[in-house]
Amino acid sequence: MNVPSDKALVPFVSVEDMLALIHRHGIRNCLAELADMIEADFKRWPAFDKTPRVASHSKAGVIELMPTSDSVDYTFKFVNGHPSNTKVGLQTVTAFGVLASVETGYPELFSEMTLLTALRTAATSAMVTRALAPRTAQTAAIIGNGAQSEFQILALASVCGINEFRLFDIESSATRRCIANLEGQSIGLTACSSIEEAMQGAEVVTTCTADKSYQTILTDNLVGAGLHINAIGGDCPGKTELHRDILLRSEIFVEYPEQTRVEGDIQQLDPDHPVTELRQVLTGEQPGRTSVDQITVFDGVGFAVEDFSAMRWLREKVAQGAPSEMLDLIADPDDPRDLFGMTKRFIHRAEQTA
Ligand code: NAD
Repeated sequence: MNVPSDKALVPFVSVEDMLALIHRHGIRNCLAELADMIEADFKRWPAFDKTPRVASHSKAGVIELMPTSDSVDYTFKFVNGHPSNTKVGLQTVTAFGVLASVETGYPELFSEMTLLTALRTAATSAMVTRALAPRTAQTAAIIGNGAQSEFQILALASVCGINEFRLFDIESSATRRCIANLEGQSIGLTACSSIEEAMQGAEVVTTCTADKSYQTILTDNLVGAGLHINAIGGDCPGKTELHRDILLRSEIFVEYPEQTRVEGDIQQLDPDHPVTELRQVLTGEQPGRTSVDQITVFDGVGFAVEDFSAMRWLREKVAQGAPSEMLDLIADPDDPRDLFGMTKRFIHRAEQTA
């Protein structure tokens, strides 16, 4: 590419590029690799700068910035959550993000993250299910069959070997779409007409509904001994999915307590209610599931380290030739203190070519 030397180009992974990567690499490989990458980063937890995400709430939803860094890389994600958006043909969740060098502060990768968030969220649920669910689990219920659902199903299938799924959504068209999208994946998919029906025989349940209110997607009577719950749709103040009584008789696992206590289902509990940090289970510092009858809840809200892992994974893929475009994002004059000179050189070039 012939570009003036003032430009430091930054690789940009567009939606089209991400789709091509998923197609070429295979979605199951993407999910399995991301699950391992996220687990590896959770195991080196002290290396990260951590802060609850910065959330800007409105009546309609939330816009959040999710930063983190280790001593080498820095990432942030911009993400929204607007449950009513689908009524006007827009998505509930969209995102984009940046990976930058800690050493120079220069961005090294800019990417769409709507698809990447769906991949990393599903990979995280699967990584946690692998750590906490009964080893013999074969059947999962998926409550809420919107944008995240196919990714959640494929991740549980690829990472945990779960191959029977029982689906429920208040809109049956969502369930039909999910089943149609997963045709040919060699996965058993059963459309259910109620949550009760979906929960029959389920050893794992993932709730991924969207409603900006205190919802009771799962009531206490639906939760039997030994169940593992991934509750990922309760991720904002005033937005929950589980009845409080379920939480009171479960072992609760969280990404980052400071964020989850504000945003997760545990916002319904006392601020000092005991929870276990996932990273402690993954490093063996704390036990995960301690009996077959125990109910385990992953109160997943999505944490910046998962996006960090996803961006690190994506950078590797781009370095190996995954599609990207070069973006003219950073003004980078030859003489770093002569920023103004760029404007003069531009005017000169423009006048010469006029
Ligand atoms: P979406 O709007 O595409 O889908 C949500 C689905 O839930 C819809 O099909 C809707 O009909 C269904 N639903 C709503 N209320 C229901 C109920 N009472 N019972 C059954 N189904 C119900 O949203 P999405 O992009 O799939 O996201 C799902 C949820 O996951 C959202 O709340 C989102 O904020 C959250 N999310 C969490 C993370 C995380 O990291 N924890 C990441 C991404 C999204």
